[in-house]
Amino acid sequence: MSKCHGCLKETNDSYCRTCLQKLFNGRKINYILPFTRPEFNEQRMNQSTRLSISGVQVKYSAKLEKKELVLTDEGGRYILKPIPYGPFQQMDNIPANEHLTMQIASQVFDINTPPNGIMYFKDGEIVYTVKRFDVLENGSKLLQEDFAQLANRSEENAGKNYKYNYSYEEMAELMKKYVAAYPVEIEKLYSLIVFNYLICNGDAHLKNFSLFRNEQFGDYTLTPAYDLMNTKMHVKVEPDTALQLFKDDFMSEEFKSGSKYTRVDFLELGKRIGIKTDRVENIISRFTSKEEKIIELVNNSFLMDELKNRYIENVALRRDRLMR
Ligand SMILES: [Zn+2]
Repeated sequence: MSKCHGCLKETNDSYCRTCLQKLFNGRKINYILPFTRPEFNEQRMNQSTRLSISGVQVKYSAKLEKKELVLTDEGGRYILKPIPYGPFQQMDNIPANEHLTMQIASQVFDINTPPNGIMYFKDGEIVYTVKRFDVLENGSKLLQEDFAQLANRSEENAGKNYKYNYSYEEMAELMKKYVAAYPVEIEKLYSLIVFNYLICNGDAHLKNFSLFRNEQFGDYTLTPAYDLMNTKMHVKVEPDTALQLFKDDFMSEEFKSGSKYTRVDFLELGKRIGIKTDRVENIISRFTSKEEKIIELVNNSFLMDELKNRYIENVALRRDRLMR
């Protein structure tokens, strides 16, 4: 038996039937790509004063052709994310980390995510592969706006750290402005914020959240989640959250004493953005109660063993904070 390169469950093949269906419309695709990593030499590291993995990540566009994925400039339905180059630790584990984190989001917490899996370049180098969610089967494209666009923030008008100098509370206010189904969608956004905290994703900035715009009704809904990863394993010095929780200088007593967000801070955020207290409590409990399932997925993942343990320890620490 080997494990499925999509859902990480046991299977006799590289992908289980369910994952083949979700990722490749049922076609039995070769998970070894017919090409090696395309050459590129740019080190995109001086773009931002705040160094982030997403800032150095290179992405390729691919499409399905017979039984293989091939690179394409147009009509790509897949994004390939190889090991990035940059000044981070254990970078060769980044594709496995992103894959694992997306699987935890989807399988353990029912967070809406696009189908994704692990593939390899012809020379054996690992690559994280994800299906685009903004292109429909018939090729038509959905309108998508990220929260930097919604907030009208760019490097030109808000400086190099424009993606980070903002708060999750203000993001919720933007949703209130644009999203008619706010009561439903805000719980999804809030859940994602708690998830990112639990899983140590310190790079969940404004551009890593987006809304779909429904042209017909002029309405917006949250897109599936993307770019989820435990960044703490790769970035030594990084704030725990990409954005601060609150738009003002509010600090709970707990935060004042430990400089770390804990349960009370997330309760306060939930209250401020209009989610009922019992629902906020439920959401937080959901994220603190699935330890075993997370450990199982981590152990089945493509991470190297040493990092599996670190991943589990990182999450345990955050869980403690969310339970305190
Ligand atoms: Zn599978």
